[in-house]
This record gives sequence, structure tokens and C-alpha cells, in this order.
Amino acid sequence: MKENQMTTSEREVMKVVWANNSTTSKYISTILEEKMSWKAATTKTLIGRLVKKNHLKATEEGRKFKYSALITEQESLQESSQALLQQVCTKKRGNVLYQMIEETTLSLEDIEQLEQLLSEKKRIAPETVSCQCTPGQCECKQEGEIHCGH
Ligand SMILES: [Zn+2]
Repeated sequence: MKENQMTTSEREVMKVVWANNSTTSKYISTILEEKMSWKAATTKTLIGRLVKKNHLKATEEGRKFKYSALITEQESLQESSQALLQQVCTKKRGNVLYQMIEETTLSLEDIEQLEQLLSEKKRIAPETVSCQCTPGQCECKQEGEIHCGH
């Protein structure tokens, strides 16, 4: 896990900031107290960590601090999904995506977009994907790593 990657709890805080552009710690605490039963101190700790990680910026306004996001939700999701896929053997990634799609309710529009992407991918798809794992960490490299490598 990358050092400045967002934890699930930190994401709860970021979601409030993303939905409101710029907001106070009091507002964030109110929302999360209701949703997560977190004490204000817990939320404050998370906000502090997010500022340190450069995900949130604190701006002093009068006697209060306003927090705004330094990373967009889209960027953050991209980072997380890349990090997730990087944990899996290149040969198994298709399977992970299959599961994700299977478990998700998709609109007709979502499906049409996916179909279009897949038919583009189909045109340039290799016959097989090669494993890029560290030998010993993947079953396809334990026996006869010759046909697995490149
Ligand atoms: Zn592998």
C-alpha cells in the first residue's frame, strides 16, 4: 500500500469535502457522527492526517478553518482501482473485473459504454496475457517459468 493512499475512514471524510467543495470540520463531524457514530475528535484526527497527506487543504477564514480537497474523487478512485489491480496477477485481472461487473447494478447507459469499450479492446486483444509476477508469488511461475515470463 502506497504511503499516502487513502484509508476507508479517510475516504468517509473526503466524501463530505467532495460533496461540499469547501467545508468546516464541524460540518464534517456532524455528518460523520450521524453516519459512523464517530466522535468529533476522531474526525479531527482524520482531517489532520488528510492535510498531512496533501489530500486536504486548510484555509483560515475568520476564526475557523475551511477544508478543501487537493485530489478529486475521480483521481482518488483511479488510484485505488490501479492499486487494487496491481495486487493481482495480470492473468487474473480479467476475472477481478468480471466479478466487479457481476456484483454491480449497471444502467443501460453504463452497459452500452462497457460494450463499446470491450469491442474496441477485442480488436487489439492479445491471445493471452503474460504473467509479470515475482517468481514464487504466483502459481504460473512456480513450475516452468519459461512460458510465463514474457
Ligand atoms: Zn502471475
